[in-house]
Amino acid sequence: MNINKLFLLLCIGAISFSCKEVKKSDSEVTEAEAEMSTSMKNEAKDTEITITPIEHATAVLEWNNEIIYIDPTGGAAAFEGQKNATLILITDIHGDHLNIETLKELETTNATFVVPQAVAEELPEEYAEQLVILDNGSSKELNGITIEAIPMYNLRSEALKFHNKGRGNGYVLTIGDQRIYFSGDTEDIPEMRSLKNIDKAFVCMNLPYTMTVESAAEAVLDFKPKQVYPYHYRGNPDVSDVAKFKQLVDAGNQDIEVVQLDWYPNDEY
Ligand SMILES: [Zn+2]
Repeated sequence: MNINKLFLLLCIGAISFSCKEVKKSDSEVTEAEAEMSTSMKNEAKDTEITITPIEHATAVLEWNNEIIYIDPTGGAAAFEGQKNATLILITDIHGDHLNIETLKELETTNATFVVPQAVAEELPEEYAEQLVILDNGSSKELNGITIEAIPMYNLRSEALKFHNKGRGNGYVLTIGDQRIYFSGDTEDIPEMRSLKNIDKAFVCMNLPYTMTVESAAEAVLDFKPKQVYPYHYRGNPDVSDVAKFKQLVDAGNQDIEVVQLDWYPNDEY
C-alpha cells in the first residue's frame, strides 16, 4: 500500500466515523426532542380546562383535580357522569342560579361555596362552614384558583328591579394561565367593559332580565376577550338571536372567536 492509498483509507475511515458520530448525535437530539415534547404534552395536559355546559347558566369546569360547578341547577340528574364539586360558585339568588334542591341532591361535603352575601343568607345552615362570601370587587385564592367577584346589575330603568348593583357576583377565575369570566345576570356595565386579559368570556344575553344581543356584542367588542361563549340566552318564551350576536362580533373584530355550545339540550324550541 502506497502512502496515498493509506491516506485515502484514513480519510474514508474518518468520514464514516464522523458520519456515525453525526448519526449518533442526531438520534440523541431526537430522543431529547421526544422527551421535551412529552414533557410539553404533560404541561399542556396540566393546564387543560374542560368546560361542560349543563343548561342555561349552569356549567362544570374541570382542571387537574379541581371540579368547579357554576350556578348548579337541574337536580342531581343534570350532573350525572360529573365528578363531585370541589368549588361551587353561585352568582345570584334567582332560581336559575341558586337552586337549593339541587345543592341538597349533590354530594357537596368536599366543596367550598363562593357566594355573594345575598346568596349566603338564602342557604341552609348546614353549608355555613363551607362558605366563602365575596362582595363585588373582592377576590380570593382557593385551591390554586383566583376568584374575583365582578359586579352584575341592570342599567335600563324598566329592568332595575331584576338585579340591583351589589347583590350578585359575576366571576373572573384565573386557572393556570387562563382568565375565564362568567357574567352572571347583567347588562353591559362599565365593570364588564373594562375587564382586561380575558381568555374566555361567558356572557348572558336575554330580555327582560339581562341585555340584548346588540348590547352584549358592544360590550364584548370593548373588552376584547379571546373567545366569547354566549350563555343564558333563552327565557320562556324569548329566545335571543345568538347568530346575530356572532355576526356583530365577527363584523366588529375578527380576532374574537364566538364559541357556541349547546346550553339548552332539553329544550324543544
Ligand atoms: Zn338568570
